[in-house]
Amino acid sequence: MKKGVIIKSTGNLYLVRSDDEPPVLCKIKGKFRLEEFQATNPVAVGDKVAYEVENKENTGIITKIFDRKNYIIRKSTNLSKQTQILAANIDQLLLLVTIDYPVTTTVFIDRFLATAEAYNIPVILVFNKIDIYHDKLSIEMTNLIEIYSKIGYKTVKISAKENENLDEIKNLLIDKTSLISGHSGVGKSTLINRLEPALNLKTAEISSAHNTGKHITTFAEMHKFSFGGYVIDTPGIRGFGLANIEKDELYHFFREIFALSSQCQYYNCTHIHEPGCAIKDAVNKEIIAHSRYHSYTSIFLNKDEKYR
Ligand code: GDP
Ligand code: ZN
Repeated sequence: MKKGVIIKSTGNLYLVRSDDEPPVLCKIKGKFRLEEFQATNPVAVGDKVAYEVENKENTGIITKIFDRKNYIIRKSTNLSKQTQILAANIDQLLLLVTIDYPVTTTVFIDRFLATAEAYNIPVILVFNKIDIYHDKLSIEMTNLIEIYSKIGYKTVKISAKENENLDEIKNLLIDKTSLISGHSGVGKSTLINRLEPALNLKTAEISSAHNTGKHITTFAEMHKFSFGGYVIDTPGIRGFGLANIEKDELYHFFREIFALSSQCQYYNCTHIHEPGCAIKDAVNKEIIAHSRYHSYTSIFLNKDEKYR
């Protein structure tokens, strides 16, 4: 028996990596299938597994899936209850944010942060394309960085294209398993290629011709950095699903709202319409950022569909 980690999944075959040996293509033992999870895939990238190598063909069979530290699911695209586990055992999420080209809205950022809080995975906000922000856009970025650092999120400013501050990113990634997320066009592939040129991921300019809005089933893939650590690439994935967050619990996942919520007059204050709400008070006094409160109410009232 060997132990390894799933680095790629393509339907029902899994590529398993163990130390520095060449990865082995594995099947899963039948009885695992759909047993434990209401998920379309029982094993995901990042899963730690035990497997047996079949002598002749250098293929293997996964015999055990070890307990997950965490996992994220794909936002469900239909009404069925089935979920797709995107990746497991993630140390940190990097959200690439661009102020423009394309615009990353604060609602999008805040929804992502709340999701990550619910999954209990740390997030680093990486502001990319700083080479093109001047005047108004530059001020906007500074404001956002202030908002998010104040509530305790790590922020980094980079230009993947101009190689600015990439050493800082490298230091954050070393020996960790990280997932890099963000809207299409924010520079995820450019960043990963700068960090590890040998990976040669397709950037938007090349791949857009093939990507004409059709629903394409994509699978996550984990790449190893030569400087240590892994990056999980989730091509074409636009957002993570929020597993099991009750509406009344949403404020738990907005750090600064949660921190003040015990001061609300009502024990079960939703911070939307109640009198004596410490959160609304803090927003009026600009202790809590308007954009953050706006995101909270939008998600609570389910008005942010267009940002998904
Ligand atoms: P992805 O969809 O997130 O993987 O984005 P890509 O890496 O494909 O990048 C989308 C476009 O943004 C490409 O044309 C890149 O050259 C460009 N880009 C990426 N990073 C930067 C940057 O730091 N500055 C500028 N000006 N353009 C960038
Ligand atoms: Zn309140």
